[in-house]
Amino acid sequence: MARTKRTPEVTQSMNLIRLIERFGAEDRCRAYLEALRWPAGVFCGRCGERKVSHLAKRHQYECDSCGYQFSVTTNTKMHDTHLPLWKWFLATYIITESKKGVSSNQLRRALKVAPKTAWYLTHRIRAAMGDDLEAPLLGTVEVDETVVGGKIRGRGRLAARQNKTMIVGAVQRGGEVRLQVIPGNDRDTLHAFIRNVTHDRTKAIYTDSLPSYKGVGDENTLHEAVNHIANEWTRGDVHTNTVEGVWSLLKRSIIGSYHQVSAKHLPAYLSEISFRYNNRRNPYLFRDTILRLLETDALPYEMLIAE
Ligand SMILES: [Zn+2]
Repeated sequence: MARTKRTPEVTQSMNLIRLIERFGAEDRCRAYLEALRWPAGVFCGRCGERKVSHLAKRHQYECDSCGYQFSVTTNTKMHDTHLPLWKWFLATYIITESKKGVSSNQLRRALKVAPKTAWYLTHRIRAAMGDDLEAPLLGTVEVDETVVGGKIRGRGRLAARQNKTMIVGAVQRGGEVRLQVIPGNDRDTLHAFIRNVTHDRTKAIYTDSLPSYKGVGDENTLHEAVNHIANEWTRGDVHTNTVEGVWSLLKRSIIGSYHQVSAKHLPAYLSEISFRYNNRRNPYLFRDTILRLLETDALPYEMLIAE
């Protein structure tokens, strides 16, 4: 049976009422996914053939040419899922709408799923949110480093020290943020990060007076530093308030939702924070995240738990 043409409004922004009205039923979720994945109609993921038969009962298609059987979630981050699609949709909604992030425990309670499932779901959605092509930052860019982690309940100071992780961040004023875990705040590390995330023609880079930042400017790019030690926080246009705002967001999220983020999962978590920040004015964040869940490869559970 040929697939009937569906044209859901894929550009509409999302709120909870609309989410429930539109995606409270499994077949509607599936139709939405199909419209996003195959806007010009279903085709075989193996050979590209457009003539496919619908195996309606199994929610699958079979390629008329090579016999490949597939569904809308085949080879995506939702691959092999045993979870109802509406739970994926609700989880994506909760994670993308939350300003400070959601822990897998909160998700477990909201969705009534097993802890392992909630954890897996959170990681897959976060991985999807991190899959963004990152353009170099331009204009005025603030750079700063911070330390997260530390105290672990019921464990001593040594454990606290070992649990500390340093993060560097760069924010384009009025634009996007880039965050990265770094081994230390030495000159090589910070210069490499700045080279990586900023454009050659970035107008200005503002930092604090940490000596490692010396020399990040050149003939195209002005470098100015505020001297926090001398209690100087703002000098005209020169300050790092924007990136410090990102740090407070980050720390509130870690304290509020994540409690302890293990060093291993911190990069994924930073991706999520950046994605949310960079999409703060995107009314289609829900749809864009669902799209990413569809476009990217499966992230096997084994890969997530591997040391
Ligand atoms: Zn085929």
